[in-house]
Amino acid sequence: MRWKEKILTLTPYQPGKSIESVKKEYNLEQIVKLASNENPFGCSKSVLEALQVHLNDLAIYPDGYAANLRETLAQFLQVEEDELIFGNGSDNLIQIISRALLHPGASTVMAAPTFSQYRHNAVIEGAIIKEVPLINGEHDLDGMLEAIDDNTNIVWVCSPNNPTGTYIPENKLTSFLDKVPSNILVVLDEAYYEYVTADDYYNSIDLTRKYENLIVLRTFSKIYGLASLRVGYGVANRNIIKALEPAREPFNVNTFGQLAAAAAVKDQNFVEECKLKNRQGLQQFYNFCEQNNLSYYPSQTNFILIDFNVDGDRVFQFLLEKGFIVRSGKALGFPTAVRITVGSHEQNEGVLKALGEFLAQLKTESVGVQGESV
Ligand SMILES: *Cc1c(COP(=O)(O)O)cnc(C)c1O
Repeated sequence: MRWKEKILTLTPYQPGKSIESVKKEYNLEQIVKLASNENPFGCSKSVLEALQVHLNDLAIYPDGYAANLRETLAQFLQVEEDELIFGNGSDNLIQIISRALLHPGASTVMAAPTFSQYRHNAVIEGAIIKEVPLINGEHDLDGMLEAIDDNTNIVWVCSPNNPTGTYIPENKLTSFLDKVPSNILVVLDEAYYEYVTADDYYNSIDLTRKYENLIVLRTFSKIYGLASLRVGYGVANRNIIKALEPAREPFNVNTFGQLAAAAAVKDQNFVEECKLKNRQGLQQFYNFCEQNNLSYYPSQTNFILIDFNVDGDRVFQFLLEKGFIVRSGKALGFPTAVRITVGSHEQNEGVLKALGEFLAQLKTESVGVQGESV
């Protein structure tokens, strides 16, 4: 078969290990999954109520326009309905944007390491990929400006960034946006927006008014706790939305996703509660890192990237055998780190206790090695 040449160089997305497979493999009863930045507190109770009512609608296609969700979200965000586009997760929006703008003659600029799907979709479209290394875990926006060339169609900005958890302060972002040529689409992926507590974070929705080449992506998979239902959205100038719409599948967001997301938006108390508990959880991790002299990036998300100065796969494996699934930094571009999702207070205590045991084991090993060399 005459496959696109580049697709043969790709491997499918490697998700974190599933709870069921780890239970079986290591004969464990309880597993805590802190690998995919899911919400440890589930979702708003009002979502469950909204879904119950519609269990008889399975034979009917979803509303391709997502009218009810669109109206609810437009009101909540204070935007017009035609300034929104919905995706089967924001992953789907990354795919739609790539499909609409990238081709073998086009180039696209992104940070490295960052969220893997920008690169993945660019490879499939055959575009030229220009990756600009992070500096201290943060986007090098000046470097990204320099990487832009005459063929650049998309610049990807992930703030807060996955997997570092770092964010771009307002003054840096706006001075960057001032300099990007207006015929290049800037995609600001804010999957963790609702977790941000930094004072100098921006109102990105307002920025889409000032910068007509900016699209903001957000998701219901993270703080809203609806990852299984797959709903993401983009906010941009209506001309951008209009141009992207034909690349979207007609029924890409399912009925239950639409219902759940609309109900979730209306329960901002749940969101606030999760945001607060997440801050407290991050503090547990910060304390541990400081007590043990481990370096980490201060996080504006619900995960933390911690450097253990040993092969990240070793830390991953140690935790796995104790029933905690995390992400090794190896596949994420940080070979000596692990990325851990902030869980409930108790889950955090559990994984930190296991990490304490790991560090103790490392210490006895290094004593052993010194002994041998005497
Ligand atoms: C989780 C994540 C997404 C994907 O979210 P979905 O809406 O579930 O597809 C997108 N971008 C970043 C940076 C993420 O971490």
